[in-house]
Amino acid sequence: MKVLVVNCGSSSIKYQLVDMTDESVLAKGLVDRVGIPGTLLKHEPTDKDEVVIKKDLPDHTEGMKLVLDVLINPEYGVIKSMDEIGAVGHRVVHGGEAFAESVVIDDQVIQVIRECFDIAPLHNPPNLMGIEACQELMPNVKHIAVFDTAFHQTMPAKNFMYALPYESYEQFKVRRYGFHGTSHFYVSHRAAEMLGKSFEECKIVTLHLGNGGSMAAIADGKVVDTSMGFTPLEGLVMGTRCGDIDPAIVFFLMEKMNLSASDMNNYLNKKSGMLGLSGVSNDLRDVLEAAEAGNERAKLALDVYISRVKGYLGNYVAQLNGCDCLVFTAGVGENSIEIREAICENLDYLGIKMDADKNKVRGKEVDVAANDSKVRIFIIPTNEELVIARDTYRLAQ
Ligand code: AMP
Repeated sequence: MKVLVVNCGSSSIKYQLVDMTDESVLAKGLVDRVGIPGTLLKHEPTDKDEVVIKKDLPDHTEGMKLVLDVLINPEYGVIKSMDEIGAVGHRVVHGGEAFAESVVIDDQVIQVIRECFDIAPLHNPPNLMGIEACQELMPNVKHIAVFDTAFHQTMPAKNFMYALPYESYEQFKVRRYGFHGTSHFYVSHRAAEMLGKSFEECKIVTLHLGNGGSMAAIADGKVVDTSMGFTPLEGLVMGTRCGDIDPAIVFFLMEKMNLSASDMNNYLNKKSGMLGLSGVSNDLRDVLEAAEAGNERAKLALDVYISRVKGYLGNYVAQLNGCDCLVFTAGVGENSIEIREAICENLDYLGIKMDADKNKVRGKEVDVAANDSKVRIFIIPTNEELVIARDTYRLAQ
């Protein structure tokens, strides 16, 4: 069976067509600027040259139509007809408390995705647009929803509850949900394989460090804790997101700067993090370069970033009573030699010892711990699309 994996943002459609007989990727691509003049489709078939198509597209349905046309195009397509697509897997960011695993989409599932609009206003509406567009264009195949929050639903109440009046949970579902669940799921399972143990036997700390970043503590096959919370704003310092702050700062700054709630939301989500601290960029490569050139604020931003990760690492190792391995993944985790080294510096007392030479690697699945390190340190490139394709294949059968 061939599975189409779809990930819709407000103005984008990412797709991947996977042949489940050997899990090979036949083609992947991105439609950018959907609904904005200058729509661009970049299509990358595995065995053919990349194609770029410019065509203004008003909405996700037209965007998906173009994706399907491209996939069956005699010149740069990879299948003969749409009938070869056996099922479609959709990335959905928020499944609330309703979904601890992937599900076949029906009217009730759509209703729950809609109910989560309130708590994921930037993500769930475009995810649903993508689902509805695909259902319209491919009514005869099963559509599966794979949720970013699902893996974290295994977390115990002591770590998902905030110390707010209980009614905030009962009435408004305010609690920690956690995000990047599909990535934490993938890399932690791969880590168990690399350790040669069953997943349920392992204690793992995963570090998904990309433009957004989150960590998770995993034991007994379950998430024990994770750094993102009610929204993806909590936790680590990110590209433009502040991560943990004293909540009183919010009211203080709103008053001092005369900001509305939506201005403040923007301030914390779009103007903070590495960008706000360094004044250089949200991209860690730029911040590293500036720090190297002597920029003091860039150096400070990196120090704050590293210190926050180390804080969570100590917290998670304490909660797990030690761990078998750390896993670095996502853009920064897979590629930044400097950041990985800085995070693992002076952690010998936790049994974490990196081999600086082995660590000189980017984007490869490898163990970079010193031979005498008690804890393994893995770099594992994440593969959220593969998790979505596997779940889709399983549920479509
Ligand atoms: P992601 O969100 O997982 O796609 O990660 C994207 C981020 O990875 C970028 O914003 C960069 O900050 C970061 N990144 C990619 N390559 C490197 C690198 N070699 N060194 C440092 N950061 C990197």
